[in-house]
Amino acid sequence: MLTKSDYTFQWEDLGDITEGRPNLGNLTNVATYRLMQYSMRSVLNNHFGGEEVKKLFYQAGELAGMEFCKNVLNCELDFYGFISHLQDVLREMKIGILRIEKTDLVGMNFTLVVAEDLDCSGLPITDETVCDYDEGFIAGIFKIFIQKDFNVKEIDCWSKGDRVCRFEVSLR
Ligand SMILES: [Zn+2]
Repeated sequence: MLTKSDYTFQWEDLGDITEGRPNLGNLTNVATYRLMQYSMRSVLNNHFGGEEVKKLFYQAGELAGMEFCKNVLNCELDFYGFISHLQDVLREMKIGILRIEKTDLVGMNFTLVVAEDLDCSGLPITDETVCDYDEGFIAGIFKIFIQKDFNVKEIDCWSKGDRVCRFEVSLR
């Protein structure tokens, strides 16, 4: 149900894109995606303030990551198999180029790097990380795959002047 005020996202709400877009297909333009995200952020910032909106974007990303993991990813793999699979899917879906920089399976600490990130690569430099949605997205994927709650913090971002986004993942 897409119109209800008490709407809760379900994967099926994304629709049958093959049937709905027989000529245009499944791909779009990155600027279109960013136009949606940054216009939404602008309107929400005016209503709720930037700090609150960062939290909301994180929560939305976490919901998206959980559903993405359940509906798209194969959670039966072992950790390294899963990361390799995740790299393939993120590249195929043109979300970003992932690599894992630090893995501590005992302490459940990880550092992930995303190059050519869909949300921020090429943005003007503002001295602030902007990938709150991606932070949540990674947290949601790890939550479903590892079955624990994680905090994800972006420490490097294109918008801060870095060439890649770097995320620290730790147990909540
Ligand atoms: Zn970023």
